[in-house]
Amino acid sequence: MKVTEHFAKAKGETLISFEVLPPLKGGKMKSIFDVLDPLMEFKPPFIDVTYHREEYIYQKNPNGYYEKTSIRKRPGTVGICAAIMHRYGVDAVPHLICGGFTREDTENALIDLNFLNINNVLAIRGDARQFDGRFIPEEGGHSYSVDLVKQIAAMNCGQYLDSNIENGAQTNFCIGIAGYPEKHFESPNFKTDLRYTKAKIEAGADYIVTQMFFDNKCFFEYLQSCTEMGINVPIVPGLKPLTKLYQLKSLPRMFYVNMPDELVREAEKIKNEKDATELGIEWCIAQSKELKAAGVPCLHYYTMGDTDTIRRIVEAVY
Ligand code: FAD
Repeated sequence: MKVTEHFAKAKGETLISFEVLPPLKGGKMKSIFDVLDPLMEFKPPFIDVTYHREEYIYQKNPNGYYEKTSIRKRPGTVGICAAIMHRYGVDAVPHLICGGFTREDTENALIDLNFLNINNVLAIRGDARQFDGRFIPEEGGHSYSVDLVKQIAAMNCGQYLDSNIENGAQTNFCIGIAGYPEKHFESPNFKTDLRYTKAKIEAGADYIVTQMFFDNKCFFEYLQSCTEMGINVPIVPGLKPLTKLYQLKSLPRMFYVNMPDELVREAEKIKNEKDATELGIEWCIAQSKELKAAGVPCLHYYTMGDTDTIRRIVEAVY
């Protein structure tokens, strides 16, 4: 079933969903099941699986020089989605990125997803690789996620890259995209970012999942701005609890999000990591309850492999 069909079926009830990361190369599918098994009692109708492109690393070779090589640390998104659907009978949402993909690669990936009856995709650009400095698309690939959305929407109309194909089989993808309540870090301003978000909706995207945020006010203002901009698709808040004190600085650095002063002040009183986790859980529970009361279609939790924390939050909210 499509993600948007789940929202429609819920008739205003707030759903929950989870995001998982593929295991590091050499890891087992069991590590994903260990994260998800204890969460399935909350009946998530869909589960997202992230995509991780190759990264550059510098390796010392036998003659002492460093060599730049590229490795993919977390391959396996499509297989993981199929395994999740098979084990739990829920929908899986693979993340599909522009980085590292030619248009042909993208089309082939989508054909495989379609064959596997995976009808949901989160279409995103991906970040710049370390040492690249800026996002560099693959030759023959997409520079922005709006172009990826257009390609998926074209396949939904039976249009493939091979112009010799007439009346090609229509895929039936529900397309999610990323949204940024605190603006995407590369964007010159919030309004410009929102205009590009609107362009993705006009290109065929069906719903938005947001970057994590710690201040609900940002999210509510984002909803308001989207409405004013004419963006009327479901908007799903993405949530990640603070679990370690160092995250007060690392999360803003990595995800360009602001930590509310009240949370920072509470964290400053804390002396040990256990209390930091407790504070993060309490904060996320309060955020979740307020968002649920406001009638969001779904609460989407970035699990980052931390089942116990996410379980405690969801238990308190539902
Ligand atoms: P885009 O929509 O392409 O936007 C990127 C920037 O370009 C923005 O500043 C935007 O304002 C601007 N822009 C957009 N269109 C245009 C245009 N036509 N002309 C000029 N400027 C434009 N990354 C991964 O690698 N794997 C994942 O699995 C993953 N999952 C994610 C899930 C969620 C819910 C979110 C919020 C992010 C995720 N990311 C993931 C991170 C994401 O790839 C980065 O945030 C990336 O930097 C931007 O992706 P995007 O799709 O928003 O990009």
